[in-house]
Amino acid sequence: MGEDRREDMLDALHRLAEELGETPTTTEMNDRGEYWASQYQNEFGGWNEALREAGFEPNQVWKVPTDDLLNEIRQLARELNQTPTKEQMDDRGEYYGRSYLKRFGSWNEAVRQAGLEPNQRISQSAFREPPDACRLCGDAPDAGLDFHHWRYGENKAGCYLCRTCHDDVHAGGMRPDNDPGWLMGAVENLIRCHAKYSEETSVPAITSRYNIPSEGLVASAMSNVEM
Ligand SMILES: [Zn+2]
Ligand SMILES: [Zn+2]
Repeated sequence: MGEDRREDMLDALHRLAEELGETPTTTEMNDRGEYWASQYQNEFGGWNEALREAGFEPNQVWKVPTDDLLNEIRQLARELNQTPTKEQMDDRGEYYGRSYLKRFGSWNEAVRQAGLEPNQRISQSAFREPPDACRLCGDAPDAGLDFHHWRYGENKAGCYLCRTCHDDVHAGGMRPDNDPGWLMGAVENLIRCHAKYSEETSVPAITSRYNIPSEGLVASAMSNVEM
């Protein structure tokens, strides 16, 4: 293998590091890189040797500055005219969503630190993939999240909740198969739960946060609830 090839391999290492936001591991190279990790081991005598050759300090993790990660969220939000999802970051952003999980613990936490409201102006496309955390309590349970429906059928509307919060929203038998007035009752339950987690209890904020089909419904439910 010639010098050109070595140079290209080192460049590939840099490109991957840029994308990941930190020094790549051999697994990341195999998953996403342009060469196999074993090629680096053969060519440079080891993975850490290749990293050193590329100018990275193997034991000292190289990272994209946190400000750069946050700026990229703001940049993407301007382009999309709404808070980006992690999937949109993967598709269109400069960094991988996974880098944000590593750095901030969750996508929504990164969004908050960027000064944005998680999933502001929720669009249907934001629901292609379940979000990371329950809309109510913010937990990200290993068991995954339920999709709670406010409206079924073609124009379905709803939001992702953890099992516990989902049960709380349907508390008192407020289910479509059980009570024709369930929708108002469920929104009232939601508002009571929401008030435990957030100070932001305006009608528009609650309507958009939980993707409720009507502000009027939220306003009526709100007036029935002792806040
Ligand atoms: Zn929850
Ligand atoms: Zn439900």
